[in-house]
Parts: sequence; C-alpha cells; structure tokens
Amino acid sequence: MESLLINILFVLLPILIFQIFYINIDSKYKNIILATVFSFSIIICMNFPISNYQGHLFDLRYIPFVLGALYGGKKVAIFLYVVFLVYRFYLGGAGIYIAFFDSTLLLIILLFLLIPKYHTYSLRTKISGTMALLGLVAIISLITCQTLFGFIFHAPFIFLSTFVVAQTLTMGLSVYFLEYLITIDTMKKQLYHNEKLKSLSEMAASISHEVRNPLTVTRGFIQLLKSPGIDDEKKNSYLDLSLQELDRAESIISDYLTFAKPHENIELELLNVTDEVNYVVNVMQPYALMQNVSIKKELFSNESYILGNKRQLHQCLINLSKNAIEAIQNGGKLEFKVNKENEKVLIQLTDTGVGMSSEQIARLGVPFFTNKEKGTGLGTMVAFSIVKAMKGEIKVNSKMNEGTTFTISIPEDKGTSTVF
Ligand code: ADP
Ligand code: MG
Repeated sequence: MESLLINILFVLLPILIFQIFYINIDSKYKNIILATVFSFSIIICMNFPISNYQGHLFDLRYIPFVLGALYGGKKVAIFLYVVFLVYRFYLGGAGIYIAFFDSTLLLIILLFLLIPKYHTYSLRTKISGTMALLGLVAIISLITCQTLFGFIFHAPFIFLSTFVVAQTLTMGLSVYFLEYLITIDTMKKQLYHNEKLKSLSEMAASISHEVRNPLTVTRGFIQLLKSPGIDDEKKNSYLDLSLQELDRAESIISDYLTFAKPHENIELELLNVTDEVNYVVNVMQPYALMQNVSIKKELFSNESYILGNKRQLHQCLINLSKNAIEAIQNGGKLEFKVNKENEKVLIQLTDTGVGMSSEQIARLGVPFFTNKEKGTGLGTMVAFSIVKAMKGEIKVNSKMNEGTTFTISIPEDKGTSTVF
C-alpha cells in the first residue's frame, strides 16, 4: 500500500514541477523540460515498484510515459520510450520481454491513434480515453504474462486487481490535474489580455478628448482664413498654427496606436530607461490633464540601460501611472525619477494621491483586489509580473492622504551584452 502511494506521488509530483516551468518558460524549451521531468518520473517509478513479483515489476511507469507523449508530441514519446527500455533492460529480470511488448504496443497506439487528435478531445474524452488505454494495457500485460510464463494468476487476485484499478485511476487523476493546471495558465494569460483591453478603452476616452482640442483650434483658424481682407503675414501664422495643432493630434494618435498594437513575441532588447520613461510620460499626458494632474520628470541619469521588452515596460509604467493619476483627487502631481544605485536602475513614481494603508499595500498585485467601483484589480498584478520577468522588484511606500511612491529596481545592463 505504501509503495502504491509513493508511486502515485512520483507520478503527480513531476506534473507540478512541469507546471512551474511551463508558465515561465519559452515554448521552445517546453518539450525538453517535459521529456526530462517525465523520464525522471518513469525511472523513479521503476526504482520503487509497487511490487516485484518474480522479476515482473508492477508500477505506474506508463502514466508519465503516456502523459509526456500526449502533451509533448511524437518526439517526446519516442524519447521516453527509449529511456524506458534502456532503464528496464538495465534493471533486468524476467519481466523485460513483457515490458518491451507492452511499451511498444503503447507507443504504436500513442503515435498513430492518440497523439494526432488528442488536443481536439474534450476533457471528459481525454480522461476516459487515457483511463481505458491504461486499464487495457494493465490487463493485457497480465494476460501476456500468464500466457508466456503461466504463473501470474497465482498472485493474489486482490493484488492484481489493485494494480489494474490503481493504474487506471491514477491515469485519470493525472490527466485531470494536468488539464486543470493548463486551464489556470490559459486563464491567467486571458486576464492579462483583458486588462490591456480595458486600459486601452479607458485611455481611448481621454485621447479622443485630447485630439478634439487641436481639431477645434484648427477649425477656428481655417474659419479665420476665410474672412476677407486679412494680410499675408496673418494668413501664414494661422496656417503655421493649424499645422502645429494637426501635428500634435497626429502624434497623440500614433503614440496611442503604438501602445495598442498587439504584443509580438517577447523579445528582449537593450532599453534606455530615460527614453522609455519619456515616452510613457507623453502617452499619459492627456489622461493626466483630464484628471487635472501635472506630470514632472527628474531624469538624473541618461545612461541607464536595462535588458527588457519595450512594450512590456511601457505597459508596466502605464498601469502604475494610471493608478497614480486615479488616486489623485482635485488636482495634484505625479513625478517620475530615474536613478542608478548599486548596479540597478531605479524608476520611481511618486504621486500626491490618497495613499494606501499597510493592508492595502500588502494586497497589491493580488488579482481582483480593487478599491474602485469599476476597477479590475489587475493593473498592478500585470505590472508586478512584468517587473519580475525583467528580474527586478517593486517596493511601495505610501502614507494615507499624502501619497504613494512605487520604486521599480531592475538590474542594470551596461550595454556590453549583444543587442538582439
Ligand atoms: P484597479 O486600478 O483596476 O483597481 P490595480 O491592480 O491597478 O486595479 O490597483 C489595485 C488597487 O490598488 C486600486 O484599486 C487602488 O486602491 C490601489 N492603488 C494602486 N496604486 C495606487 C496608488 N498609486 N495610490 C493609491 N492607491 C493605489
Ligand atoms: Mg489600475
């Protein structure tokens, strides 16, 4: 019984480990990790079998094999098959022939029947299908064992049936568990996306407001141009002013569009923090104006470089400055500072807003924590995760009714690394 539970643990644990990497890792390496983790699981299952019955090992090794194959594809399946056989032959014993027969049968079913269509199945089909497969494999291996060696049915019936039931149930449980973790991961990505859409639509309101001003001004000048008897000098200055206003409108729109463009692949590049902060200040200016907030910049260091993704850094700073602006009622100030300290680049956002209590600060970054009627409680979560991805951290200092400072620190990149 104990060894059965240990086997189940060896099957479920790798799923968890895989999940931890799965979220943080590039899909390029996904299959390598998957293959490693499940190979480990197969080997360890065989090392601590539920029972070693006259050279025949009974354990749950086929579960990690099937999981790795179904979620990693054909290459992972073949890799796991080889790892399994090599190790099984190394362990030796009479059971190697049965193991060879079973695993080859399983591999053929996986490669030609299950893997190509697995991702199109519903959760219920996935669970029942894999359970049926493993139940069948367990029964087939017992029957072949009986036919070839003629002794297996001398083993206590309770032992044989426990093995079949345990293998079938653990398979179902593992698929359910893995699918559940993948769903959570997909939902998280969806949330990020929704938060971006929301801040886009909120910013769109202020931006259309900002674009209207230059248009109204330009309209006024054009009307003036129509009036008879104005001299050339005046005409020219009206035209210049109109052009300036139109340029302004154009730059507001193009800034907005740069932000609104969908995320491309997360590419890391060398970023000049001062430039990026300047950009964000420009993007936020209309929103700040609408809320009667003035933005100040203190950019001490013009040579602060970090390795990061431009759009993500923008989104992070935009989310935080949006919160800061929203925290300011009846006018106030939002200040950006860029500094260097101990090989780290510090970006500070200080607002003169309502501030937060220590309980509120502790809950920052927790999804859905919001004090706003129409808030999503996702902005800081996204900002925190972006900073974390750049190997940085965020510190928050706040006093109720006085204001808040967010300090982002990110390891400095001296620019010696290659830009790609
Ligand atoms: P949302 O803005 O949708 O509420 P966020 O995750 O962006 O979600 O923020 C969560 C909460 O944290 C806000 O509702 C607000 O109460 C608080 N908060 C965040 N930044 C500040 C700030 N600079 N000043 C005061 N409160 C803040
Ligand atoms: Mg917010």
